[in-house]
Amino acid sequence: MIIIGAGSHGLSLAYHLFKKDISNITIIEQKRIGYGSSGRNASRYRYHFYSKDNIEFAIEGIKYLYKEAKDLEYNPLLYRTGYLWLLDDKYVETFRKLDSLWEKYNIKGKFINCNEFEYLKKDGLCYFAPQDGAFHHDYINYSYYEKIRDKYNIIISKASKIHVENNRIKGVILEDGTEIKDDTVVVTAGAWSGEIFKTMNINLPIYPDKKEIYITEDIKFKIKPLIIDFNDRIYFSQTLKGEIIGGVEDEAEKTQFQHFSISLQNTIHFLKSIRNLIKDIDGIGIMRGWSGYYEMTPDHSHVMGYSNSWPEGLYVDAGYSGHGMMFAPFSGHIMADLIADNRKSKFIDIFSPERFQKKKLIDEKMVI
Ligand SMILES: Cc1cc2nc3c(=O)[nH]c(=O)nc-3n(C[C@H](O)[C@H](O)[C@H](O)COP(=O)(O)OP(=O)(O)OC[C@H]3O[C@@H](n4cnc5c(N)ncnc54)[C@H](O)[C@@H]3O)c2cc1C
Repeated sequence: MIIIGAGSHGLSLAYHLFKKDISNITIIEQKRIGYGSSGRNASRYRYHFYSKDNIEFAIEGIKYLYKEAKDLEYNPLLYRTGYLWLLDDKYVETFRKLDSLWEKYNIKGKFINCNEFEYLKKDGLCYFAPQDGAFHHDYINYSYYEKIRDKYNIIISKASKIHVENNRIKGVILEDGTEIKDDTVVVTAGAWSGEIFKTMNINLPIYPDKKEIYITEDIKFKIKPLIIDFNDRIYFSQTLKGEIIGGVEDEAEKTQFQHFSISLQNTIHFLKSIRNLIKDIDGIGIMRGWSGYYEMTPDHSHVMGYSNSWPEGLYVDAGYSGHGMMFAPFSGHIMADLIADNRKSKFIDIFSPERFQKKKLIDEKMVI
């Protein structure tokens, strides 16, 4: 079997296959382990989605994340922080509806005055969901990598084409023209997955949306939840070390592959916004900033499994639209069950790529 992409999803799949004693696996990675979003994210987890499908996936996924954390080589530092939304009038009605939905799943939050969080300068309505939390992505990625690095064949090269003949997978052609032959290929290439499918003339609607993220110098720990201000287009929280970590949402999606740079304009926007919202951080500076891609789909939900219209032996697990790090352990587990044991979780049907052809999209609006 060939896995294209050594981000958290490719590594998690490889690790779960290794636990099933599956041999002969080749992982093809274009740059380095964790080069994509799995090495560039904010490492938060949440149950609070807009659609029932994603809420149910999160409930199972986070349960698995906590269970898996105990078995991993390195401790991913999972902890509950909560999520705090600063609500403008226009979002209150939506949050009232969501609160009723979330109550059915035992993940109800509460409407409170923002000034109950004494470090905030804001007075007004907030919604606090205490169940959500944080972790550290590197420990997940490298725990998986440690386990499989000597067992599987890892090739650092770009997969430039998937070779298909008579509607069957034959192998993957690397950028130097070498072909790695195999009858099964799993695409876990994050934002690049749509491009790889194009090499087989298959339209899989996964595209990049570039996001910037920053870390400030460290201050005394006080901001526990992830704070989201849709109006100002920012989110932030604090790392255990005390740095403020957060990002800015561009007004328009940046749907082309671009340099992983950050803009001065967005950096200043972030810095001004956190200084306006948090007490006593007037002179705080940015230590570093970077960017990465949200791997978007038209319904902001991921794609896993296969399509009956695809060549035999072709699978995908990608398109997590900015919330896929927390799901890597669970998705690797489900995908390994499917590919190695032909055991199909209900989520394989729900998040099937066929929903795009059938125009049965998931109603997910909550991208953070
Ligand atoms: C700024 C930011 C903040 C985020 N915050 C969170 C968060 O708080 N919580 C959360 O759960 N998620 C978050 N995410 C989303 C999360 O990071 C991703 O959903 C997740 O990492 C996707 O993992 P992946 O393995 O599918 O893709 P990736 O990690 O992108 O891995 C894909 C890999 O495929 C390789 N590849 C691509 N094309 C080819 C090719 N042709 N040949 C060989 N290799 C190839 C790439 O080099 C890459 O290493 C965030 C993302 C960003 C950018």
